[in-house]
Amino acid sequence: MTALISVSDKTGIVDFARALHTQHGVRILSTGGTARLLAEAGIPATEVAEVTQFPEMLDGRVKTLHPKIHGGLLARRDQPSHMEALKAHGIETIDLLVVNLYPFEATVAKPDVTLAEAIENIDIGGPAMVRSAAKNWKDVGVVTDASQYAAVLAALQQGALPTRLRFELAVAAFNRIAQYDAAISNFLSALSFDDSRASDERYAPERSDFPAQLSSSFVKLQDLRYGENPHQQAAFYRDLQPAPGSLVTAEQLQGKALSYNNIADSDAAWECVKSFDVPACVIVKHANPCGVAIGADPLEAYSKAFQTDPTSAFGGIIAFNRPLDGRAAQAVAKQFVEVLMAPDFSAEALEVFRSKANVRLLKIALPPGGPRPWDNGRNAQEVKRVGSGILVQSSDNHVLKASDLKVVTERQPTAEQIDDLLFAWKVAKFVKSNAIVFCKNGMTMGVGAGQMSRLDSARIASIKAEHAKLSLQGTAVASDAFFPFRDGLDVVVDAGASCVIQPGGSVRDQEVIDAANERGVVMVFSGVRHFLH
Ligand code: 5GP
Repeated sequence: MTALISVSDKTGIVDFARALHTQHGVRILSTGGTARLLAEAGIPATEVAEVTQFPEMLDGRVKTLHPKIHGGLLARRDQPSHMEALKAHGIETIDLLVVNLYPFEATVAKPDVTLAEAIENIDIGGPAMVRSAAKNWKDVGVVTDASQYAAVLAALQQGALPTRLRFELAVAAFNRIAQYDAAISNFLSALSFDDSRASDERYAPERSDFPAQLSSSFVKLQDLRYGENPHQQAAFYRDLQPAPGSLVTAEQLQGKALSYNNIADSDAAWECVKSFDVPACVIVKHANPCGVAIGADPLEAYSKAFQTDPTSAFGGIIAFNRPLDGRAAQAVAKQFVEVLMAPDFSAEALEVFRSKANVRLLKIALPPGGPRPWDNGRNAQEVKRVGSGILVQSSDNHVLKASDLKVVTERQPTAEQIDDLLFAWKVAKFVKSNAIVFCKNGMTMGVGAGQMSRLDSARIASIKAEHAKLSLQGTAVASDAFFPFRDGLDVVVDAGASCVIQPGGSVRDQEVIDAANERGVVMVFSGVRHFLH
């Protein structure tokens, strides 16, 4: 049996090659750097250059691209004409290929990477050999990752590589090549080419957020039982390189498998709770927050969030941005909860849910640098499928500061009102349009979401407050887009709001400002709209 070993990442290769040689009598062929390492470890390896009778050339760009190598990988052992051709040309079969590729992904992940450096790290001969071996999987085993070494040795211990393992290795090999090519294509597609500087080796090109061609690659995390509805099929994929702190990095500690809707709602809850610096709790139903609050600790935040709309909270998705302690866990356990998310769970909290085996507990690390969605941990781009096309936009990462607020009424806001307005605005960003959100003391008091009319969202928010027996007197209210007429403002003021935040920018802004002055409330413009569909 002959193996060709050519690896960039040399982790574990010496032990693997030694086992192949000493335990299984495998003859080893190898490329320059790998051969040197094996020789130093006292493992006999024949250099590929000796087989091909060609030196490695062009700074390693051509090492194994030769019929003596590819013939040995591609020849069908059950095809007499193939075997005769090998014989006629003095080519020996290669039965096992061990290759990992030049580190393209790691190279382009460096912030100061140059185009020249990236190009030099595109492996040519490695993928060619991997494809040859994987195509000929019936006769050849192909190893593309150090994590596969153990399984190969275990199989050899039993005799030869079983057909099934060779097939699985071939599938893994083609997946690896597809990922590798996607990484190259993604990187190059995102460059804006500058003719005048293209020859400069140190030139690090500008990257455009929206390249002329979009290619991306996703890795399947799991098949789902069904999609949004039972007659729809579904699966969950993650980015090749997930952002730290994003939903796909979650670890499920217990509970039933996540459903399609669980995942979508969990993402909404996590993105919202992540946006708070102080302890916060977000309860989501059908992709909308039905309760959001901040507090001194998780228990207080949860208790306030739950009060907003106890009816809707039933069967909700609950997210915390602080580790869940035993007291908060006991409070949450009193309600029916589908998914519970937090950066960590204390031993007492885990104990509380041990007897509730169906509750899904997701542990997710906050993005490094703290709970700030605007600098990391969120997809830079959002994608929406439309008939045979996709819409791509940068994420709505806008964060409003107190200094951005423009007071447009005679009445000026108090410090507490400013806090409530900013809180309401932060929540409104995560509520589907049209969004109307009443808040007070760091707690949502009424949420109107997803209506075709802003007036109806406002009415629904106050009906919900009534159901929850909450008074809207003196609340702050946020509207995700401007009031086109004064009627929307009248509805929220009639309900009890004393201050209002909205983007402004309507042709009838003056009518709405006059109405606010007439009703004696505070109104501030944010200058930003937060439509969410
Ligand atoms: P070594 O460190 O053994 O000199 O090189 C190992 C690396 O070379 C592996 O990552 C392998 O994929 C790559 N490689 C093998 N043959 C060729 C070739 O003909 N051209 C290029 N560009 N890379 C090759």
